[in-house]
Amino acid sequence: MSALLATGNRRAAVPPAVPVLLYHAITDTPGRQIAPYSVSPAVFAEHLSLLVGAGFRCVPFGALMSGRGGPDGWRGDERIAVITFDDGYADFATAALPALQARGLPSTLYVTTGWLAGSPVREPGPEDRMLAWGQLPELVEAGVELGAHSHSHPQLDTLGGGALRDELSTPRRLLEDALGRPVTTFAYPHGYHGPRVRRLTEEAGYASAAGVRNAVSRPGEHPFSVSRLMVTRDLTPARFSAWLEGRDGRRSTHREAPATTGWRAYRRARAVVRRRPGSDYR
Ligand SMILES: [Zn+2]
Repeated sequence: MSALLATGNRRAAVPPAVPVLLYHAITDTPGRQIAPYSVSPAVFAEHLSLLVGAGFRCVPFGALMSGRGGPDGWRGDERIAVITFDDGYADFATAALPALQARGLPSTLYVTTGWLAGSPVREPGPEDRMLAWGQLPELVEAGVELGAHSHSHPQLDTLGGGALRDELSTPRRLLEDALGRPVTTFAYPHGYHGPRVRRLTEEAGYASAAGVRNAVSRPGEHPFSVSRLMVTRDLTPARFSAWLEGRDGRRSTHREAPATTGWRAYRRARAVVRRRPGSDYR
């Protein structure tokens, strides 16, 4: 697919490759389980400086998707990036947001609703402090796009239909009730999804969904399987810069590799043995 779609004399550009970054906790003192997936506030600030220095315009995830699908498109020379956060760690408000606001950068925060402090139905979650329900309206006020990341963070592709529908619809309902506005985007816990999960996510009323795949997102990707690049503690500045140049070290494909399918079967079997889907907290 061409990066430029001709529309008469106007050409609506589609950014050829968009780094959609996935962060978890931004802290110097992460809990044991999230530690490999967390970065310090100093490293986070360095990443933002690299993004801004390279001339990227950051947009929320929903804006990326509507820009791709709509007639407005993008300027052909524009470099677009998306900054996302999963789970809803409390340090988003105290560490990440101030750094984003200082640079005028928007972001998308996918929360696991059952993990939030003050949740009507609390689910077992990380040992780290999580955001509270009462903070969400002020985050929206500060320009943060809120998305859903399930209610209890299961591996969605191991769930039966009823449980899967619940995990998709409950967080959307709770967030929309709390915020008084539509919630249109979803992020799969652990990135795990397949055609059935994608279909039910769309049926649950979302307009798009983010996976992981550790690849730069490219035009023509399935809107319910958008690639993200997961930032880990051992990520080097050189590799981060390579991502910004569109070099992710792997090809983004629409199909999952056979290894992924086999791994899912294993996880599904294990989930049945445990009678509860496996959960590690990221
Ligand atoms: Zn997660």
